[in-house]
Amino acid sequence: MGTTFANIIRTAPRVMIRRGGRLGAEAIVRRGNRVYCVCCGNTSMRFLPSGAPPRPNVRCPHCDALDRHRILWGRVREIIRPGDRVLHFAPEAALAHNIAHVPNIDYTAADVDPSGSHLETEFPIVRADITCQPWRDGWFDVIVVSHVLEHVPDDHAALRELRRVIKPDGRVISHHPFDPGREHTFEDPSITTPAERLRVYGQADHVRIYGRDLPDRWRSVGFAVGTLGDAAALEATPVHDAPTWKPAATTPEAGVTTSFARASIPGT
Ligand SMILES: [Zn+2]
Repeated sequence: MGTTFANIIRTAPRVMIRRGGRLGAEAIVRRGNRVYCVCCGNTSMRFLPSGAPPRPNVRCPHCDALDRHRILWGRVREIIRPGDRVLHFAPEAALAHNIAHVPNIDYTAADVDPSGSHLETEFPIVRADITCQPWRDGWFDVIVVSHVLEHVPDDHAALRELRRVIKPDGRVISHHPFDPGREHTFEDPSITTPAERLRVYGQADHVRIYGRDLPDRWRSVGFAVGTLGDAAALEATPVHDAPTWKPAATTPEAGVTTSFARASIPGT
């Protein structure tokens, strides 16, 4: 007991100093005006590193939005129309705060395990399995599903359900880790342990690496697919460019817009 107590005494000041130093550095970054975050509307000296390994210019020091959240919010706000029913699976705070406050829409957040989300204190989150959804056919106008399908063992079932609950003229925005060097998606159901998934897929809770055939998976259940730019587009948006920023063009056929994050994933 004496040893443990002594360790706490010796350790705590160092942790506090490190944390204080980090927060102090972030406070300085927050005061800059070189980059603009479309999620929270604040400017900063730069975006902060994030990821493993860390990528530079990713996380907003004000609202924690990542580059993919800025891309998605920039696009989502353009396609939501007054009166829309909007479904947001596995809601990320940086997006949820913005979408939920769009006037004159019906916003539904859903997660397979809502208890894991701190957002539950702000608005209700429906407990829902993306492969077996509780809503009637053609219920939603817009669905936002970001960094979800690479965790779902039966992503075909998830896609079929997304197609079922979206209106015929609805829009889905999805975003996935994606390896452009792979022609075909790689998945092996025999890989089940977190350690093996980390080694093979690059993250302990991923079950596949999507390849260039990802749009075909969406098309196979009846979606038309367009693409957005990748994360590099907004890694460090200069503040003077922010008001005129436009997302990459989608194809004319796009009834559904799908965006693919370029991920650096170890090979197999
Ligand atoms: Zn922000």
